[in-house]
Amino acid sequence: MTIFTKIIEREIPADIVHEDDLCLAFHDVSPQAPTHVLLIPKKPIVSLDALTADDTAVAGHLLMMVPQVAAKLGLEQGYRTVVNTGEHGGQSVFHLHIHILGGRALSWPPG
Ligand code: 5GP
Repeated sequence: MTIFTKIIEREIPADIVHEDDLCLAFHDVSPQAPTHVLLIPKKPIVSLDALTADDTAVAGHLLMMVPQVAAKLGLEQGYRTVVNTGEHGGQSVFHLHIHILGGRALSWPPG
């Protein structure tokens, strides 16, 4: 079980911005931009690499929720989505999550 399951189950607090049957979005505890939210499936999928055909609906739902969460956060001027995968991807929590970053112009390319 990761820290994100504990957030889903309300065992530890988080600043939640969206919740539905399949997913949860909450502010990152260590924001890398003025707005930094994590969008996660409630199902504890480890990473993009762990997706199976059974996850098609939840993965699609997660992607469909990105613009809705971004709109709720007031990111009309744009935002960046990041999904870190595995060791070289810089993943530190092994529960799939989409970072939604915005609130300022972001540089490219990333490190
Ligand atoms: P990753 O490095 O796996 O792509 O992203 C994990 C993210 O989870 C990091 O940005 C980190 O700041 C965030 N994070 C880790 N623990 C917690 C926590 O307990 N609460 C919240 N809100 N974010 C967390």
